Amino acid sequence: MSRVFKYLELPRLDPEKLAANERRHRFEEIYARFDSEQAAHQAGRCLQCGNPYCEWECPVHNYIPDWLKLIAEGKLAQAAELSNQTNSLPEICGRVCPQDRLCEGACTLNDGFGAVTIGAIERYISDSAIELGWFPDLTHVEDSGKQVAVVGAGPAGLSCADVLSRNGVRVDVYDRYPEIGGLLTFGIPEFKLEKAIVKKRRKILENMGVRFTLNAEVGIDIPFDDLLAAYDAVFLGMGTYSGIDASLPGDDLPGVYMALPYLISSANHLLKIAGDHEFIDMANRRVVVLGGGDTAMDCNRTAIRQGASSVTCAYRRDAANIPGSHREVHNAEEEGIVFFWNRQPLEIIGDDKVEGIRLIRTELGEADARGRRRPHPVTGTEETIEADCIIVAFGFRASPAAWFDNHAIATNQRGLVVTTASESTYPFQTANPKVFAGGDMVRGSSLVVHAVHEGRQAAQSIVQYLGL
Ligand code: FAD
Ligand code: SF4
Repeated sequence: MSRVFKYLELPRLDPEKLAANERRHRFEEIYARFDSEQAAHQAGRCLQCGNPYCEWECPVHNYIPDWLKLIAEGKLAQAAELSNQTNSLPEICGRVCPQDRLCEGACTLNDGFGAVTIGAIERYISDSAIELGWFPDLTHVEDSGKQVAVVGAGPAGLSCADVLSRNGVRVDVYDRYPEIGGLLTFGIPEFKLEKAIVKKRRKILENMGVRFTLNAEVGIDIPFDDLLAAYDAVFLGMGTYSGIDASLPGDDLPGVYMALPYLISSANHLLKIAGDHEFIDMANRRVVVLGGGDTAMDCNRTAIRQGASSVTCAYRRDAANIPGSHREVHNAEEEGIVFFWNRQPLEIIGDDKVEGIRLIRTELGEADARGRRRPHPVTGTEETIEADCIIVAFGFRASPAAWFDNHAIATNQRGLVVTTASESTYPFQTANPKVFAGGDMVRGSSLVVHAVHEGRQAAQSIVQYLGL
């Protein structure tokens, strides 16, 4: 059979997944990696259609059909080179992107035949090439003599550093945490992304000449003025870190936790890092998680792995209208999390600690501006469920630094940094011409691949601004 029609005889195959009863006690990644034969077969299912919608839907516009073809032909090193040209963190996006909403959702074969497993193959390419000693060849790159400081070692900062060093710019990355990765290390749990993967990328960047200064908070340990004086430009990729609180009666009771401090405490515990966040252990607790996004799913699945006696997730819309990934909800259900859809919290109950939560049922009305149907409480449907701990996972607001104002770094009403203020500016340039910004602190809490894209775009702007 011609390669073009391979999809007719070969169904989509997802990487093997650890059985739910095994993985609910373990923190390691749940998906296995394709071997070279599986990767070649699955890559060979690509139709090589003339108009690759997958490429358009992928926020970094990966050359997907091209590297699928190379993998189908067994050309791993070439595929790795090509994949790393458009994506600074391909092995990470291959793991954590919601592919069903992005590249795979747009695959022509998604219409009845099963989309090509693009994410798993992207992961396979970089994992395997890195294991075989692949690293970007920068021997042709000449030192420009320019230096840029990057504040924040999350995906936006790392991607900006990657593109700048490929353009001969010397890059120093500063981060307040003891390891690089931002939310890749201290937010997203190990069962979605093992931290050894982030450390491998750190080695690659260091080999490219990127220097990391960690445990250094800009604005506290290092004055921002010092960076402006020492560097030709500065990129900010500082993320969004203000959790949206529950604003419910009883939300100050012991036993109520915000999602990110909870997840950071778990990451620190597993990485054996003595951080500011005291370890929060859900062993033998009845846990209720409030929220329906990726952060809520990560809290659910972390609590179950810590040995919670029960984990219930309450969300005010139905399963079809969650903001997070359906794949992650499915994984959580398999691991034993009970979902209370269409429930809005009214009150956290308890005298001197959490004893339960009162919820009311909702029904969905008209769609809002973002196309998601609004929940309305249904009178007379209140119920109480017993709980020892409540985790609030309602998302994040911007956390602009106090020093932005003194350096003409403008923010909007939501506290997000404003870039490209006028037509004469470069993309991702702030109101201070020497300062660029991208990722969550500019677009609001979003996806890794969007932060990667913006870090890369900002780096291209900085290259132009520096006249290189
Ligand atoms: P961050 O990753 O937040 O990095 C910002 C960095 O800046 C941090 O390291 C911080 O320490 C540093 N910093 C801040 N201020 C300073 C300062 N003054 N000095 C020095 N350093 C500073 N996205 C997905 O695509 N898939 C997922 O499955 C997914 N799961 C998620 C799960 C959770 C729990 C959370 C919270 C988010 C998740 N996301 C997911 C979203 C994704 O992690 C973010 O969109 C992405 O990390 C944003 O990248 P960033 O570089 O803008 O910011
Ligand atoms: Fe798909 Fe994300 Fe990879 Fe793009 S970066 S091809 S959207 S998995």
